[in-house]
Amino acid sequence: MYLYNSIYLCSCKNKTESSVAIPAALRGTKLTLPDLYFCSRCLVLRCNDCCIIETVAKYCVNCMTDYSDSPGTTRCIKNCFECVKCSSPLAITALDVGKGKQFTFNCGYCDYSYETEVITEPIPLLKHLRAKADPRFSRLCEKYSHRDSTTLTAQMEQKLQQMSLSANTENKKQFHLNRLGSNPQSLLPPLPTGKHLVAKRSYSCPGCNTKLLDPVADPRLMKYLTKELALDILPLLVAKVGPEELELEGDTQCYLSVINALPSNAKITISTVEKIPSTFNKTETELSVSLPVTSFAVSSRREKMGILESLPTQFLTDATAESRAEKLTRSVTKGGRYSANYEANGLEKGANWATVPFSYSATEDLDCDILPWLPFYVTIETRMPASMNRALTSSGNGLKLGFWALVPVEK
Ligand SMILES: [Zn+2]
Ligand SMILES: [Zn+2]
Ligand SMILES: [Zn+2]
Ligand SMILES: [Zn+2]
Repeated sequence: MYLYNSIYLCSCKNKTESSVAIPAALRGTKLTLPDLYFCSRCLVLRCNDCCIIETVAKYCVNCMTDYSDSPGTTRCIKNCFECVKCSSPLAITALDVGKGKQFTFNCGYCDYSYETEVITEPIPLLKHLRAKADPRFSRLCEKYSHRDSTTLTAQMEQKLQQMSLSANTENKKQFHLNRLGSNPQSLLPPLPTGKHLVAKRSYSCPGCNTKLLDPVADPRLMKYLTKELALDILPLLVAKVGPEELELEGDTQCYLSVINALPSNAKITISTVEKIPSTFNKTETELSVSLPVTSFAVSSRREKMGILESLPTQFLTDATAESRAEKLTRSVTKGGRYSANYEANGLEKGANWATVPFSYSATEDLDCDILPWLPFYVTIETRMPASMNRALTSSGNGLKLGFWALVPVEK
């Protein structure tokens, strides 16, 4: 969803912790708010890169067999198979042939299919397939048969030697790929493989070991014992370019909205640097941002809030009657139902959000169709949420956080 496009800098990437210079890491990171955790002991953002990850459970999604106590097993050993080409599940059909059975594997997604020979003894399919061939060999043949080169490279020779394909140096020199490719008998058909297992993992803070995401081990349950998501704490930032008539003297008018996720009112400050290099703003030129309102309050998020109510006005569309009605209400209401109103400085206050105007200008000509990404340093000051263990934090009753975000200006 477009509301979650802004990039937030995890504490592990923000080495300098500067609030006045853009951290270089903001250029390479791609994490949006839903990708991040928030440690309520350390009061910092955490991501998959910095968390301690442990496997809670390992299982097959097809037959739901629990493999948690089988270290090293990565594929299902029951009758669950996946396509070697595209990893989709394979449908298996059995055909009676004389006293035996012949099995056919068909991929529901691509053209892959595999037929076993007639099997006369009761034997698990996987065991039969394993006995047929070393799957590594067929994969290797498949890979090399597509090469144009007719001779083996040193690396390929080495690999084949490792797999004891070429017993001695003499034979190896005569082993040409065109022979391999032209003789289908020498190619084993790629065999179906057991379904890859999936894992449930827990994520813990590297600073204090607190579990930030802790799923219940039971594969049948999609429940979490702990879920410390950044989404529930940090405000969401969204920027939108203003209507065209607002473009004045090379300055592009925009709006920045801050949406509060917490059940308490918050004080927000916003700043950015004087000149934003093109490497950060993703355009071809350096940009300057004018931010007339840098400090304001945002109301708390209430439980059971309507979706439209929690959307900043710039993001309401004319697509539905409800959205059009909401837009109209906001344009006429002054301190009414949604207490959505405008202050003299241009700030618009909504249910659990506030929107401030800002503008940017380019030092060189900038194509109007190219919208920049802009870095902002944001601080939020609020009451300590009840969900956080206050005894363990040093900041008393208040919660104060600062973070960098790279916000795309949306059309
Ligand atoms: Zn991190
Ligand atoms: Zn299975
Ligand atoms: Zn397939
Ligand atoms: Zn921590």
